[in-house]
Amino acid sequence: MECFDTHMHSEGKGITELRKMAENGIKKAVSCAYYPVTPSHSSTLVDMFRKLSTFEVERGEKAGIEIVPAVGVHPRCICNGWEDALGWVEENARVIGEIGLETASDVEVEVLFAQLKLASKLDLPCIVHTPRKNKVEVTEKILEVVKKSGIGESLVVIDHATHETAGRILEEGYWCGLTVQPGKISVDEAVSIVEKYGFEMFVLNSDTGFNDWEMLTVAETVKALEEKFDKNEVKKVAMENGRKLFRV
Ligand SMILES: [Zn+2]
Repeated sequence: MECFDTHMHSEGKGITELRKMAENGIKKAVSCAYYPVTPSHSSTLVDMFRKLSTFEVERGEKAGIEIVPAVGVHPRCICNGWEDALGWVEENARVIGEIGLETASDVEVEVLFAQLKLASKLDLPCIVHTPRKNKVEVTEKILEVVKKSGIGESLVVIDHATHETAGRILEEGYWCGLTVQPGKISVDEAVSIVEKYGFEMFVLNSDTGFNDWEMLTVAETVKALEEKFDKNEVKKVAMENGRKLFRV
């Protein structure tokens, strides 16, 4: 079954690896903005956004994956003058991400709020990162900030959800992103979360990128779901929900 990896970082992958993903059924991917060291200036962010939106899309085409660029200021990429990068986002973005909170510091909240406001104004979907540490607590804080921004629920995916947070995310009406990766959730956990809550509001992703992470977890999860559930239901989390959310 064809599938959609709704959160990865294609910049960290070689074209041979992207081709391997495509050969395993991963035909679409959202490639999220992330700079592995804290940028020293906002222009670094802008150039990264430009690269994602042109060069990365072309590399995807060569490999057989439709890459959808997501641009925005990740909580670990906040630099002096970060606001200046939002001008480019406003002019060019199709998807805003990944944004979110890592430690939930005041500046992170400020940067997240500004970008949610922008996404709301531009009517753009956005990908919101939740951290590994203090997951439940910080997810609650994120839900509070998202709600306060006034953005429409259908534009927001709260990502890296777990058994502990999925219920709350769905309760508030947002899309729920399941990141299947060692150290995040396993294929079995993803299957059991979808089994518990249904197929309607979930998207799958690998978050693969700069590290030595698994690239094919979305395809593996879809295969495990197919063994257990109706094909038309599985199609929703494999592809259709992502297409609806990201309008591709
Ligand atoms: Zn990511």
